[in-house]
Amino acid sequence: MSCRSANGRPGRCPRAGTVTNTAQRLDRHQAQLKRCRLCPSMLGPVVTGAPVVSPVLLIGQAPGAREGPAGRPFAWTAGKTLFSWFARIGLHEEEFRKRIYMAAVCRCYPGKNPRGGDRVPSQDEIANCARWLGAEIRVLRPTLILPVGKLAIAQFLTPRPLRDIVGRIHRIDVLDRPTDVVPLPHPSGASTWHRTEPGQSLLATALRLIGSHPAWKKVIASPP
Ligand code: SF4
Repeated sequence: MSCRSANGRPGRCPRAGTVTNTAQRLDRHQAQLKRCRLCPSMLGPVVTGAPVVSPVLLIGQAPGAREGPAGRPFAWTAGKTLFSWFARIGLHEEEFRKRIYMAAVCRCYPGKNPRGGDRVPSQDEIANCARWLGAEIRVLRPTLILPVGKLAIAQFLTPRPLRDIVGRIHRIDVLDRPTDVVPLPHPSGASTWHRTEPGQSLLATALRLIGSHPAWKKVIASPP
């Protein structure tokens, strides 16, 4: 297997042996993940981002109905909004997908909620899927984690109103390693939080913090 750098392409790597080893572990991990059928109420297929070696880990909530057929996370309207945010700090969608590892709290579509919208994953489903996320964190050892939406944020931070946690870097221990967590609101079109104040300004601050973080700069600077 060729070396795969933060941009996901084969080629030069400063620590080729380490990166290749990590890439191989990610490939093995994703092969197992894609076969997972632990949750009987979840609808397949398993959706996850490309197995790229990156110091930045984005964590969504769970795929929607469109992501499974598309075969990648954030493939529809919420994704368009999300990627427009990252384009503001230097990475357009396709580059983002090649350079940032995209995970989620749950990797399968939970199905519809009879009362409207998508079903929120159960605690059992979240616990089931945490093994995959934990494995990715152990392999990648990210220094910057971007949880998107309340469910993802709640895996790392005590639940509080978004206005109290977005727009800040939270330095916490993640699997016993100090890690910077920069929470983002969910980019859903159904949410007005990120389009109205104070959400709009807090989102802009969060993006500035991400854009100036060493891990993000490393990803941006990685050779094409
Ligand atoms: S949600 Fe996660 S744990 Fe549950 S079946 Fe899908 S991949 Fe497996």
